[in-house]
Amino acid sequence: MTTMNQHFLELQGSYLFSEVAKRRTKYMEQNPQADVISLGIGDVTRGLPQAVIKAMHAAVDDMVNVETFKGYGPEQGYSFLINEIIANDYKARGVELNTDEVFLSDGSKCDVGNIQEIFSTDSIVAVQDPVYPVYVDTNVMAGRAGTFITNIGRYEKIVYLDCSAKNDFKPSLPTEKVDLIYLCYPNNPTGMTLTKEELKVWVDYAIENDCIILFDSAYEAFITEDNVPHSIYEIEGAKKVAIEFRSFSKTAGFTGIRCAYTVVPKEIQGRDVNGNAVSVNELWNRRHTTKFNGVSYVTQKGAEAIYSTEGKAQIRELVDYYMTNAAMIREGLREAGFSVFGGVNAPYIWLKTPEGYNSWSFFDYLLSEANIVGTPGVGFGQCGEGYFRLTAFGSRENTERAIARIKQLSL
Ligand code: PLP
Repeated sequence: MTTMNQHFLELQGSYLFSEVAKRRTKYMEQNPQADVISLGIGDVTRGLPQAVIKAMHAAVDDMVNVETFKGYGPEQGYSFLINEIIANDYKARGVELNTDEVFLSDGSKCDVGNIQEIFSTDSIVAVQDPVYPVYVDTNVMAGRAGTFITNIGRYEKIVYLDCSAKNDFKPSLPTEKVDLIYLCYPNNPTGMTLTKEELKVWVDYAIENDCIILFDSAYEAFITEDNVPHSIYEIEGAKKVAIEFRSFSKTAGFTGIRCAYTVVPKEIQGRDVNGNAVSVNELWNRRHTTKFNGVSYVTQKGAEAIYSTEGKAQIRELVDYYMTNAAMIREGLREAGFSVFGGVNAPYIWLKTPEGYNSWSFFDYLLSEANIVGTPGVGFGQCGEGYFRLTAFGSRENTERAIARIKQLSL
């Protein structure tokens, strides 16, 4: 028999969403009449913006015509889209980027998962806890995590940066030497953010301590407050130490269409085993062009349309729709007596479970008493125990009904 990659065998089962689905199915089987509302999974529910649909239809027609047909495109993405990204998402915020610093892909999940490949397997990785599980699991696969310590519920070699209500879900700087720091802001699952001053502390730390920040900004479009940075490059010096990930999934309803991008500034340097400087951008380019053959032309044309005047207005409407849901959930929960976090600059609302409930017992309670499915916080890490996540991605009607039900609970 062929020997398997032992590191993959260190992975823990993807327990969270399968367990959520299992408990929901069981409940529905026992209560077939129950009108269950899901505010659990972070997938969008509104359709694609009209501007995107129109552009994608036109792009399909380009494919019919021999003169305008497109086969393989540049692996990094077409310049028509990269130029729009740079002009609208960066230059408009005072950040200068070159076209060869932006890499398009079929999703941020792949990018945040794949980026670790270009770093040494000896790198020490720091993650926030609670955390988007992809950061941890992909490092487990690469052999950077060591073994899973069951009684603690953590990997031995990963550095966990604790986030709880005590520190307002803003982790302290690592106290030991780390090489890679995953930061996610606006945060999934807590919905919390850092101000410019707070993010600057991390950038300065990375510069002083010779590490690289992997900044996941998938929820950037949901920022409403002025002092919250949209890009880590708004912080001076960040181009020397940070890679940024952005996605069209939540911003523009692309969870099924698939398109995202990663910014790898040319200023970031790593080193080889002899201590010689290595360009992180060049290595990522080499990896990307070897393993990826580009986002489809039709998809990139759809993404380009997001930056048209019509597209921008439609995206705003989409984001506002979800953020109105977020405000309703946040305020509704507050009125019902819950301690609530997030939901101001992110489509996630993170609540403290009531006295006497842990994450899973509150899941069961909410499902049976209010027929609402959410996500137990402990599924995102040990520090998520005693918390619970609701998403603003449902329909307005379901959001209103869910909150009305929660207000009637006697907790
Ligand atoms: N990063 C975070 C923090 C996410 O929550 C998600 C999706 O839920 C992703 C990345 C993945 O985004 P994409 O759909 O672009 O793969």
